[in-house]
Amino acid sequence: MIEKREFIESYFEDASGLSGGFADVVYIPENENEVSRIIAKSSAEKIPVTVSGGRTGVTGAAVPSGGIILSTEWFKKIEITASRAVVGAGVFLCELEDALKDTDFFYPPDPTEKNATLGGTVATDASGSRCFFYGRTRDYIDSMKIVLADGEIISVKRGDIKEKNGFLRFAGRKIPCANFEMPRVKNSAGYFSKKGMDLIDLFIGSEGTLGVICECGLRLEKRIRFTGYFVFLKKERVIGFLKKLKNPHFGVILIEYFDENSLSLVKDEFTQIPSGKFCAVFFETKLKDAREIEDMLEKQDFLAEILVADNEKTQRFFAGIRHRIPEKINEIMRQRGFRKISTDFATDGRAFGDIFEYYEKTLAESNIPYVVFGHIGENHLHINFLPQNRTQFARAIEVYEKMAKKVISLGGTVSAEHGIGKIKKKYLKMMYGPALDRMLETKKALDKNFILGRGNIFPWQNT
Ligand SMILES: Cc1cc2nc3c(=O)[nH]c(=O)nc-3n(C[C@H](O)[C@H](O)[C@H](O)COP(=O)(O)OP(=O)(O)OC[C@H]3O[C@@H](n4cnc5c(N)ncnc54)[C@H](O)[C@@H]3O)c2cc1C
Repeated sequence: MIEKREFIESYFEDASGLSGGFADVVYIPENENEVSRIIAKSSAEKIPVTVSGGRTGVTGAAVPSGGIILSTEWFKKIEITASRAVVGAGVFLCELEDALKDTDFFYPPDPTEKNATLGGTVATDASGSRCFFYGRTRDYIDSMKIVLADGEIISVKRGDIKEKNGFLRFAGRKIPCANFEMPRVKNSAGYFSKKGMDLIDLFIGSEGTLGVICECGLRLEKRIRFTGYFVFLKKERVIGFLKKLKNPHFGVILIEYFDENSLSLVKDEFTQIPSGKFCAVFFETKLKDAREIEDMLEKQDFLAEILVADNEKTQRFFAGIRHRIPEKINEIMRQRGFRKISTDFATDGRAFGDIFEYYEKTLAESNIPYVVFGHIGENHLHINFLPQNRTQFARAIEVYEKMAKKVISLGGTVSAEHGIGKIKKKYLKMMYGPALDRMLETKKALDKNFILGRGNIFPWQNT
């Protein structure tokens, strides 16, 4: 194990741009026994522990609030056996992808940031564009090795332990479940809750507050060929076109949206983007015969231009645009000295047409530069504000809050994939109210000294 006390500032930040992180020491353990010793000692001495993965999170969840940082960077095991893999928490998504590239299988959850770690994506229950068809991280994790807040190492297997009469019972513990109704939309806000829920689901998405994930067993999917289409169109046509694409007949596995402002951000780097006042819908289909899709596209006379990706090189180009937009936003905000202000709202399909119009109207009235992009197939968009000064920054926060209230009133979520971390706690409280007190009971039962992920999720903790 390595212990670092100097030059550790890079561990104080994540991609949210949240400032003020601090800690005394970074531990880089090699195995779960070392993690267990660090955690048991921290618990006994009531020292906060922040688990650090790839630090690509966008909610400040990995930004430490004092105490120690536990980095998973040496948890690099990758064992692949047919349609399963056992992977160390510190493995980057790009490393897993690389290890799978010569097999017939792939790992479907595909957050665009490939420097995220497996542990981090499980702790935030991350998702990616292909989740439209394949589902999110939670759907692919079937076992985990976890170190609990008192240092005990447990192995959790999906299907072994289920909630009964309000409790999860395991390893001599009786953990109360929050038992509330989650919004019926794509959601990663707060702890998971469902009648009869599986123990493993409590840890997935718990943002480093309930245990240290050391290793995960993953389910893989058979690799199939996809063809991608990047179509440019006027904003007014997007919702109608989206409905068409959602017809299962077209075998669509991913639908992403980029507004005109997002395309403008990366136009210089991706010169194939046509000029003009267009937004774009990017979709992939698993249909083997492209003719059906092409016939359908031909009939949509409002499409301005279509780019097709049917090989690895062109697919990489599309993925490049998708990844570059959020990256560029983060760079701009960092240069301007602001933390990220990005929504992660999702609603259900019925409310989406109205909320899409509402976002556009509210943003146009706000007079603050912004971009909108994201997983429109799942009614889930990222609105990023790009304030140019402090006044605009303050106003952006107000507009954000107004939109959050609207989304909540429609039964949506304030976080569909990024989690709550330190910068979205207020909105979690707005969304869940008293259910948050019940989540706190779960937290207390597993971490009575509040050492893990201090400052994340619960609004009344210091950040
Ligand atoms: C350009 C860009 C694009 C992105 N695109 C997407 C996207 O498409 N979809 C998406 O969902 N997210 C996306 N993200 C956000 C980010 O990549 C995800 O939230 C990711 O899951 C974070 O993983 P990480 O390893 O970087 O975690 P970190 O940022 O290091 O940590 C995140 C949280 O997980 C906890 N944690 C980390 N490892 C462990 C562990 N082993 N045990 C317990 N807790 C742990 C941390 O304490 C913290 O609370 C994007 C980010 C960027 C910068």
